[in-house]
Amino acid sequence: MTVAIDWRAEASRLTIRDKAFIGGAFMDAANGATFDCISPVDGAVLARVAACDAQDVDRAVKAARDAFEDGRWADRSPKARKRTLIKFAELIEKHGDEIALLETLDMGKPIANARGGDVRAVTECVRWYGEAIDKLYDEIAPTPKTALALITREPIGVVGAVVPWNFPLLMAAWKFAPALAAGNSVVLKPAEQSPLTALRVAELAAEAGIPPGVFNVVPGFGETAGQALGRHMDVDALTFTGSTEVGKFFLKYSAESNMKTVSLECGGKTPNIVFADTPDLKAAAKGAADGIFYNSGQVCDAASRLLIEDKIHDAFLSEVAALAKQYRPGDPLDEKTKMGAIVDATQTHRVLGFIDMGKTEGATLTLGGNQVRTETGGFYIEPTIFDRVNNSMTIAREEIFGPVLSAITFKTPEEAVKLANDSKYGLEANLWTNDLTKAHKIARALRAGTVTVNTRDGGGIEVPFGGYKQSGFGRDKSLHALHKYTQLKTTYIQIG
Ligand code: NAP
Ligand code: MG
Repeated sequence: MTVAIDWRAEASRLTIRDKAFIGGAFMDAANGATFDCISPVDGAVLARVAACDAQDVDRAVKAARDAFEDGRWADRSPKARKRTLIKFAELIEKHGDEIALLETLDMGKPIANARGGDVRAVTECVRWYGEAIDKLYDEIAPTPKTALALITREPIGVVGAVVPWNFPLLMAAWKFAPALAAGNSVVLKPAEQSPLTALRVAELAAEAGIPPGVFNVVPGFGETAGQALGRHMDVDALTFTGSTEVGKFFLKYSAESNMKTVSLECGGKTPNIVFADTPDLKAAAKGAADGIFYNSGQVCDAASRLLIEDKIHDAFLSEVAALAKQYRPGDPLDEKTKMGAIVDATQTHRVLGFIDMGKTEGATLTLGGNQVRTETGGFYIEPTIFDRVNNSMTIAREEIFGPVLSAITFKTPEEAVKLANDSKYGLEANLWTNDLTKAHKIARALRAGTVTVNTRDGGGIEVPFGGYKQSGFGRDKSLHALHKYTQLKTTYIQIG
């Protein structure tokens, strides 16, 4: 029998790590600065966290470089790195409830999602790359008999990772797990809205046996700590997840510094195409609702544009609206809550601004549209649906990153593809149909890094994830992620 957990009581007992983790130890920012880490659950200050700037980033990069150069991690055998990463995964799992609670308090997602979604996926991710790393072979090229050409994969060195707040630890794990598995040292900058789980997990990495300096965390602001990492002359690779706007800054930082490699996982405006011949319209409606309301729509591949074939428009949209009502925002610390908070006041105003824009531009508001639960001191917005959206409206073009669905109708498959591809983004696309030929044809025509058919589930850690167009380049997850954290060496030997 599982015992119900009193999450509020647990919260009052938490010890929050609020310092930077550099060279295997917690420390204050060099200039002593801190920032308030606010909980969107109720607006309370959870901690005053070290606000790292260029000096601290420099210390962390130096620690990472020293660790890389003396081989304390990079020179360990793949089998030894595997053992340590599996131990790391086990520690994350063991402290899973504490980490889930930190995530919920810090960014406002429902505790059930933090536990069953985020923490579980983080554990799997770290374990998966640990398991993978001693099963990869390098290559020998087809040369004349008089030569031997080895093509080997080497760690790239010091990896800087800058991540967002929507899945704070999971987005970080998609970077640090493959980077560490490949033998690199990592300097991670979590989002200022959600630094707490990264700091806790850095400590668990050390406990698992990842040596000092190999995994560093520098909490702080984007313009200071993030920029310093992007511009650092001794960072070899910068891996980023966040908005398209900030992603572009990292290309500039690289060009203006040391030409470090940059990989970008940026925004999205996922089209979810529902044909009248969908085999299970109820499943499609559930996919549409979960696709935009899970995590309060703060999901890079949120199915924010619902493209419905005109014949089923009315029936389908009312089914989605009925399911949306189950997403009424509630207390994130209640295990029954399906929709929690919006990450902060700024994001709340941004989402409400888009809702106003939708009304002004002439879309029909059919559900929600309001901020709720203001008496809690936290930030919450109702599930919101706009109908009769035109793909040229702002709410169909810009990433809202909130629980706001835009419904658009189409008549033919060609029109659906045209609408779906008419976006600067290309992270994901979903489609629902009973016709296999149509599904394959359309999947090929869609310009997106992931296409799902008759499901919203784009797969776990075993498949790559990343964007076309301005959704970025480079892939997280799967063995393909290792390309970002390794470089190829050719060793050409004359033997005759
Ligand atoms: P964001 O504003 O782009 O921030 C992402 C990270 O970049 C944060 O750590 C941020 O620090 C930092 N940053 C901000 N300005 C910077 C600057 N001038 N120089 C260097 N670093 C800077 O994104 P967000 O609001 O946290 O997250 C939402 C975005 O992430 C959405 O666009 C979403 O689509 C995208 N996302 C994409 C994926 C994917 O896999 N494609 C997954 C999740 C989220 P601060 O803490 O100071 O803001
Ligand atoms: Mg926070």
